[in-house]
Amino acid sequence: MSCLSETPRRCVSQGSCSLVWSLVLLVALPVGAANPPTPFPWPNGAKAAVVLSYDDGVDIDLDHVAPDLEAAGFRGTFFVPGNSESLAKRLPEWRALTARGHELGNHAIFHPCLRTPAGLPARDWLRPEYALESYTVPRMIDELRAANTTLLAVDGETVRTLGYDCGDTTAGGTSYVDAARPLFLAARIGEDRIVADVRALDPMLVPSWMVQGVSGEEMIAFVKKAVDASGLAVFMFHGVGGGHSINISREAHRQLVDWLAENRQKVWTDTFRSVMMHVTAEQKRVAPPR
Ligand SMILES: [Zn+2]
Repeated sequence: MSCLSETPRRCVSQGSCSLVWSLVLLVALPVGAANPPTPFPWPNGAKAAVVLSYDDGVDIDLDHVAPDLEAAGFRGTFFVPGNSESLAKRLPEWRALTARGHELGNHAIFHPCLRTPAGLPARDWLRPEYALESYTVPRMIDELRAANTTLLAVDGETVRTLGYDCGDTTAGGTSYVDAARPLFLAARIGEDRIVADVRALDPMLVPSWMVQGVSGEEMIAFVKKAVDASGLAVFMFHGVGGGHSINISREAHRQLVDWLAENRQKVWTDTFRSVMMHVTAEQKRVAPPR
């Protein structure tokens, strides 16, 4: 039995000890299998959380999205750039939207993106002045600060989340994620996947699915993946029933919202800010003391 205190390599080299180590492993494996990680604790015993987020501050947010969400008792997160034409023309309606509990998220002022992102088609629609390739990290942070002030003037909120424009996280070739961290509770990227391990999630790199031309069934299947993992499913919408070149039908959106309403005991649907406040509080609670 003395070989149990030795390394497996040395033990196996002793021949007779290899059987002992095999037995130890055989006994240990079922114990591990019987103790899977505890599911992430969502409020009120929910099995998953869902965030419905809408980008670019377009008129259909006011005309289609908010009415459909509110009919089901839900609130959404709207990532509105400071130069949104809809924000300029319909400011009182945007302000009223936030007063009803919807969230305004930071989407910079001029919606800067990479003009030639690696592995993706060039973004010819982007004005060269706002190509992130020619930004610096300090310039991007300045723009994000100015956008936070713009939104503060609309809704009075001081806790803000970010939706990276085009999902891009670099300026002048350098990541601005850590420089932006002090400004935000959380930030949303792309990646088209659910969050399965919520405890290990970096709040500044929350994945989401950018939906385009998909059905209600496909979006419900995405939520079910989160339910299976006790995870988080974040949707990134643009157009809903029109209003943007990246679009899904209003019927598909309503089908998802109806399903979420029917399953509200099982799935917690709320704003990005509310969900990430819960996630970060839980992460702090279980973090080992320093
Ligand atoms: Zn955008």
